[in-house]
Amino acid sequence: SGPLLTATALHKVYGPTTALDGAEFAVDAGEIVAVMGPSGSGKSTLLHCLAGIVTPDSGAITYDGRELSAMSDTERSALRRGDFGFVFQFGQLVPELTCVENVALPLRLNGVRRKDAERKAGEWLERLEVAEVRQKRPGEVSGGQGQRVAVARALVTSPRVLFADEPTGALDSFNGERVMQLLTAAARDSGAAVVLVTHEARVAAYSDREVSVRDGKVRSTVGVA
Ligand code: ADP
Ligand code: ADP
Repeated sequence: SGPLLTATALHKVYGPTTALDGAEFAVDAGEIVAVMGPSGSGKSTLLHCLAGIVTPDSGAITYDGRELSAMSDTERSALRRGDFGFVFQFGQLVPELTCVENVALPLRLNGVRRKDAERKAGEWLERLEVAEVRQKRPGEVSGGQGQRVAVARALVTSPRVLFADEPTGALDSFNGERVMQLLTAAARDSGAAVVLVTHEARVAAYSDREVSVRDGKVRSTVGVA
């Protein structure tokens, strides 16, 4: 049935800057792909296009057999809320909410009752080994704990694709490794595909396959025949 998510001939310019210049990409269900490359090469733009956050100037993105550009804004936002999960480097937790409320939030937005959402959120906090931060606010936890909460929040809706953009970029190497272990184990258990943007080989080592982005073009590197 082919890859779950594909990008074909993506072009994107920002004023004089070419961010994507014919980028090609594909990820299968359950596969973890690392998107590597230097700063400014187009990695985040590729991820944002794949996730339907940024609209490419030309080219096509197909998710589960449907072109994103053929969907309405409402359909694309439903996709981001249901089928997709996101983890970023910084600032993704809502500071006014406790950690368990943060993890429960995507479920609440999908209409799940508070009690059920928080029970499920609590299970995910346990799974990411941060049950103890349940009632704390993001400002009261360490960076490593906060990223585990963010991973729990990204996976609580059982997304089919997890987009992770430098998910360990703000962590020391010990916490970064642990977050990657927990993230990839949880993604494998839930069968989620992962698009992992990183410039660190140590982080990319958790993937099944690596591609590298240079000047807005994607090249296959490790793990592809
Ligand atoms: P990477 O993630 O590899 O660091 P990006 O995709 O963020 O690369 O950026 C690729 C290029 O596009 C860079 O030159 C960047 O400055 C530019 N760019 C990205 N987003 C924007 C934007 N919203 N406005 C202007 N330029 C942008
Ligand atoms: P972790 O390995 O869980 O990320 P750290 O080694 O960074 O933890 O921190 C150890 C403990 O110190 C944590 O359990 C956390 O409660 C506390 N802590 C660390 N950083 C902060 C912070 N910025 N604010 C409040 N508590 C913190």
